[in-house]
Amino acid sequence: MSGKEDQKADAGADYSMDHHSGQPADADMVIRRTEEKDLPEVLAIYEHARSFMRENGNPRQWGDRWPPEELIRKDISLGKSYVCEKKGEILATFFYNAGKKVEPTYSVIDGKFTGSDEYGVVHRIAVSGNGHGVGSFCIDWAYLRCGRNLRMDTHPDNKVMQHTLLKNGFRYCGIIHVEEDDDPRYAYEKYPERCGEEYYLKNVLLTRYHDEEWGKPEHDEQRLYEMFVLELFQAGVSWELLLRKRENFRRDFDGFDPVKIAAYGPEKVGELMQDPGIIRNRRKIEAAIGNAKVVLKLREEFGSFSEYLWHFTGGKSILEGMSVTRNQLSDDVAKDMKKRGIRFAGSVTVFSFLQAVGIIYSHEPKCFCYERDGAESFRDNRYPSI
Ligand SMILES: [Zn+2]
Repeated sequence: MSGKEDQKADAGADYSMDHHSGQPADADMVIRRTEEKDLPEVLAIYEHARSFMRENGNPRQWGDRWPPEELIRKDISLGKSYVCEKKGEILATFFYNAGKKVEPTYSVIDGKFTGSDEYGVVHRIAVSGNGHGVGSFCIDWAYLRCGRNLRMDTHPDNKVMQHTLLKNGFRYCGIIHVEEDDDPRYAYEKYPERCGEEYYLKNVLLTRYHDEEWGKPEHDEQRLYEMFVLELFQAGVSWELLLRKRENFRRDFDGFDPVKIAAYGPEKVGELMQDPGIIRNRRKIEAAIGNAKVVLKLREEFGSFSEYLWHFTGGKSILEGMSVTRNQLSDDVAKDMKKRGIRFAGSVTVFSFLQAVGIIYSHEPKCFCYERDGAESFRDNRYPSI
């Protein structure tokens, strides 16, 4: 997703985390909001979709005029209508929204949704018939954008959509009813298995963090120092609060560049203490500066902060259960860090940090991240390795 698209998104409907964009990679297809000028093309796509549905045993879902032009105009004015475009040609259009209990017709279901009540929903999706995998591309875009908890429904006669949803990893959840007619609708959701539900699923920001960052083996210098500083500030506050303040931290701490942070003087500390957008704790701020100086020394000795961190395990990720809060590895790293002059990095903090950057790997096998990260291959990794 482009930065421009990000800015246009209204807060409630966009859960994407900064540089971890929600847009799936595709060279040519892009999703953008529908504009007034697109209306003729959009209407033509709906006309095409209705005739396709009629010809394919589904004459009732949209009949001869659904969705009405007034409704599409309303969707556009609310910024909820989207198009999928490829080199200037509109290939699909759909309605997308996200938020807490965002679709009233889903509050009553003969069956069960398993995901949290903060979800995304796609309605009125129609493709022009040009291009391959366009519908799936749109659905996947919505799925990532809403924080991987997407609900949709379709008519019992719409075998094509049912097939598309199942193919895209949706599960059938039960029957719901819509205002437009008396026909039942089949409701579906896409909601992956994750670990540690009690920690993450209460909150979209945390879920997104779990899905896109936490535990991914990390080697990037600045990202590593960012996580290290955030862990330092985390003691005593919630991780959610920290994630909400993260952009402010990035701005105030020069993108977590240790070279720049190491050069901060008392004046800069005073400045940081004035910003309510971050966590104003003088000792922690000073520790972040002092620790940056140590990180620069580690770079000299090991080549990089990353090399230093990963050398403890010989470059390998070590599996460890979710319920553990410290272990031999975190004890050893904390001890070594302390010896080198790093402050506020006790074993519990270090454990949490190593977990965040995937040196200690704690996603559970049932979690979709486990397969994504190839964690099966970590099974035989041991610390200390002999
Ligand atoms: Zn997980």
